[in-house]
Amino acid sequence: MSNKTSNTQRQVTWVIILIFLIISTTVGGFFWVKYEIDKKNNNNNNNNNNQEEIEKEKAREVKRVKLIGEASLLVSGYYYEEAIELLKSDSDIYNNKMISEVKRIEDFVADLKPYTGRIEQVFFHSLIVYPELAFGPTSSEPQGYNYWMTTELEFQRMLPLLMERGYVLVHISDLYDVDAQGNVSAKQIYLPEGKRPLLISIDNVGYPESRKKDGFASRLILDDNNEVTAVIRNLEGKDVVSRTAEVFPIVDDFVKAHPEFSYRGAKGMVGITGSWGVMGYDPKIASEAAVAKKITDRMKETGWQFVSHSYTHAAGKYFSENSTLEGVKEDTELFKKWIVPIIGDSNVFIAPFGVTVKGELYQYFIDEGYSFYLNVDRRSQPKILGKSVLMPRINLDGFVMNRDKAYITEHFFDVDKVYDSRRPVFQ
Ligand SMILES: [Zn+2]
Repeated sequence: MSNKTSNTQRQVTWVIILIFLIISTTVGGFFWVKYEIDKKNNNNNNNNNNQEEIEKEKAREVKRVKLIGEASLLVSGYYYEEAIELLKSDSDIYNNKMISEVKRIEDFVADLKPYTGRIEQVFFHSLIVYPELAFGPTSSEPQGYNYWMTTELEFQRMLPLLMERGYVLVHISDLYDVDAQGNVSAKQIYLPEGKRPLLISIDNVGYPESRKKDGFASRLILDDNNEVTAVIRNLEGKDVVSRTAEVFPIVDDFVKAHPEFSYRGAKGMVGITGSWGVMGYDPKIASEAAVAKKITDRMKETGWQFVSHSYTHAAGKYFSENSTLEGVKEDTELFKKWIVPIIGDSNVFIAPFGVTVKGELYQYFIDEGYSFYLNVDRRSQPKILGKSVLMPRINLDGFVMNRDKAYITEHFFDVDKVYDSRRPVFQ
């Protein structure tokens, strides 16, 4: 009996052990499999997370490279603070690389010294695009053009040579301050070593009929890209659009290619002569005045300044040895009436024929708000006279390239590399 009982008990024990083994193997196996699966999943997740992070960092690096490129373009255009601001503008990508870029610009700026050399101002008239017309048998004044004009080819040759000499286009306002009382003082301009400021002005920017047929531009327009460009009558008598027929699009394109040629976007001064119209438009015809105003506004945005070159541009009582106060007033009033509504106020006056009016006449210009009186002189430097600056300018034209070749070669460019051989013999 006891034997039978102990046998049964043994069998039960074995069954229990067996069941226990089966259960524990199953459960253990389950947890082992689960552990393995979890481990695998975890790895996948980590891999995914790493991959995501790598992609994100790649995108950040692309942004960094783009921003550094944009900042270096700003630096070449003398926009230092703007460049630093741009580099710091996105905290998500600001890392050690960006910090060292900022530091590089800051160190560069800290090394800049105020410019103390000569201040040069050069001027031009509208460019001769077709010398065969300007100097040909049908020309209105071939001799005058040979003296006082520059050809498009010469102008295109000058720009890179001026840049090589370190010249940088600036605005008068980069060089002088005018306080509320009208007192003018010199302002410090900081330029990199070897760079020097250059002011340029273009006189008589209107296009009378005689010029149109003599191989000069006929008017300025805004093209489809909202850029100022010229219209010119070509040799076949057809009006064509050209970016090389006038100073303005040539300078715009040159600065675009060489930002280091323009200090903070400065281009030049556009001297409007009232009675010649405004860039090819008649200020007394409302629809034309409106077009001229649109072009003016756009050119101001792109670094050009509009200044007075008188209304009449006439000698006698206006601008000559015999100028009278009455004449000068009459001229200025006409300019205010017809031209200022289009081009806005300006504190720059370009004297016709370079005539420097004296005494109460000069005072009249100051009282009218013209702080800068521009005449013509190849040697002297600007003089601050309390509430005004008398500023000399040099004409870079046929006359000066012939009569003052050595001086021009010494100060601006090698005349032999610029002079247009299509000009008639200079007499
Ligand atoms: Zn003039």
